[in-house]
Order: sequence, then structure tokens, then C-alpha cells
Amino acid sequence: MLSEKLIQAIAEIPDFPKPGISFKDITPILASPTLSAELVDNMAAWAAPLKPDFIVGIESRGFMLGFALAQKLGVGFIPVRKPGKLPREVYSEDYDLEYGSATVQIHKEDLKPGCRVIIHDDLLATGGTAEAAIKLCTKANVNVVGVHFIIELAFLNGRNLLPAGTNILSEVIY
Ligand code: AMP
Repeated sequence: MLSEKLIQAIAEIPDFPKPGISFKDITPILASPTLSAELVDNMAAWAAPLKPDFIVGIESRGFMLGFALAQKLGVGFIPVRKPGKLPREVYSEDYDLEYGSATVQIHKEDLKPGCRVIIHDDLLATGGTAEAAIKLCTKANVNVVGVHFIIELAFLNGRNLLPAGTNILSEVIY
């Protein structure tokens, strides 16, 4: 099964980047041409019926497979980035982290009002990042028809921060 292969490939690093965090490293998936291809195929089988116009990938680990998914579906890719990276006019959204806060941005003119998007990131933890990305899309008046993660840390209840009824696929749940 794909999820079992992914779990075997994902490297778990205790106490990185700080004590108490078990970091899930997806780079071994990217390093495997067969496993990453199987994953993108699975993502595309879920995503295609949702008929997205764009895949929105969250910086930075949402870029690689988000772009691969967009290519597979024949749709465009739009990055959500940290402040100061996108050169044209942006929508911004601030959100809380465990300590402090963060901001994500998206180019205003790239999202056409009424279009359909799927948001992709490597991992759903507390949900703050994905919630902020959804809010950016809402500001742009686009429809979030799905949200995809490779990994969901279910014990952190991040899903509860996302709007009720959001179509979510997590390939691996810890
Ligand atoms: P959150 O906003 O709490 O849902 O955090 C999600 C973001 O933080 C994702 O972009 C992940 O890349 C990163 N992240 C949070 N926790 C972990 C973890 N245990 N291992 C790897 N990445 C993580």
C-alpha cells in the first residue's frame, strides 16, 4: 500500500528543530523516482475529479509535489510564500505560531475570482499555516475545492482549524 511505503520512507528526527518536536522529513520520498511518481499519481487520482484550475503550494516543502501535481493535471501552480519574496502586489495573512506569529502571501493577480484551487503542503500540524493559506484564497474570491497533505499529525487536531466541510486528503496519518 502507498501509505505504508510512505511511512517507511519518511525519516523521523527526534528533537529537531527543537526539543519535543519529532520532525518528519519527506526528502527520502523525493529522492525515490518510483515512490514520488506513485504518490503524485495517487494525488492526481484524488484531485482530478475536483477539477482544479490551479494548485496552490505552500513554501517551501509544498512546492515540489504541488508543482508535480499541477504538471500531471495540466493546470497552473501558484506559490504561497513568506513575506518579502513575491515581487508583485500580494494578499497577506498573519497567523499564530506556538511562539510568536508568521505571515504568508500570494500574488493578487494570479488568482482569478471564481476559479477552483487545491492547496498542497507537506504536513498538517496545528493547522495554522493551512488555515492562513485558505484565508488568502478566500480574500482572492477563489474556491478551495480540496486541501492535500502528505502527512497529518492528527493528535494536534489541525483539521479543526480548517473550515467545516473542507475536502482534505492526508496520505499518512500519525
Ligand atoms: P502548522 O501550521 O502547525 O500546521 O505547521 C505546518 C507547517 O510546519 C508545514 O509547512 C510543515 O512543513 C511544518 N511542520 C510542522 N510540524 C512539523 C513536523 N513535525 N515535521 C516536519 N514539518 C513540520
